[in-house]
Amino acid sequence: MLKNTKTYTVTNSLFLTPKVKQLTLTKTDNGLPAYLPGQFITIHFTRAEKTYRRSYSIASIEGQTLNLDFAASYVDHGPGSEYLFALQSGDSVEVSGPFGRLVLKEEPVKRLFLIATGTGITPYRAMLPALTAKIEATGLRVHIVQGVQYRHDVLYAADFLAWAKANPDYADYRSYLSREDLTLQQAPYEHRGYVQQCFDEFKATASTDVVYLCGNPLMIDASFAALQAKGFASSQIRREKYISSK
Ligand SMILES: Cc1cc2nc3c(=O)[nH]c(=O)nc-3n(C[C@H](O)[C@H](O)[C@H](O)COP(=O)(O)OP(=O)(O)OC[C@H]3O[C@@H](n4cnc5c(N)ncnc54)[C@H](O)[C@@H]3O)c2cc1C
Repeated sequence: MLKNTKTYTVTNSLFLTPKVKQLTLTKTDNGLPAYLPGQFITIHFTRAEKTYRRSYSIASIEGQTLNLDFAASYVDHGPGSEYLFALQSGDSVEVSGPFGRLVLKEEPVKRLFLIATGTGITPYRAMLPALTAKIEATGLRVHIVQGVQYRHDVLYAADFLAWAKANPDYADYRSYLSREDLTLQQAPYEHRGYVQQCFDEFKATASTDVVYLCGNPLMIDASFAALQAKGFASSQIRREKYISSK
């Protein structure tokens, strides 16, 4: 075991999309360490005598499981991708964490935008029960927005749609598809283009709104610039960029 890591066992894996695999890890003693929805874990592994660290957001819905689920996107020839996609049930994995500050805060916000590309949607899945509690306690309005290239790249849509249906006046979920041909069939929650468009479409307003951004660094930088141009302070924009540690 490496310093500051705990050993988990892979207990399940399944493809959520053609390029995204959900892995389930179980710790032999007492399941998940305490974590806040939105946090991530770091996986430590060795390949060709080199050690690597790669981080993955916890996707488990709070309260639903004692296991640790996360969704890994396959990056061609990436050491983390090669390692994770070869794991089999019963294999051991060294994990540290949880870490991270992309978590919900107690604050007087009227509307939350939770914006993601690809697997960056997973921290918002972990937050669903906490978001419902905030809606019930404060009347918070929440927009969850996921950007991917094609319809088949969308992750966990059923969970977000069920949550939005259960909170009809306060919650909604959209996917933005940048390359899908939407002329034939289009579900009501599907939109063509990029997640940044939603700031104009929902009239994002600095005096009432807070925005969380997670996933592709280019999307995060473009969204940050668009929000600053609308008068958002950087404290109202929470960011987590999916980049690799060296
Ligand atoms: C806090 C944090 C949380 C993260 N959570 C997740 C997560 O929940 N799921 C996940 O799949 N990844 C996540 N990542 C990214 C992950 O840690 C790795 O960077 C990713 O798996 C690629 O590692 P690799 O070794 O396969 O490829 P590398 O060779 O290290 O990366 C190759 C390139 O791929 C880019 N890249 C990184 N992540 C992605 C991605 N998801 N999709 C497309 N390109 C990417 C990197 O910018 C890099 O330039 C997270 C990163 C951070 C910092």
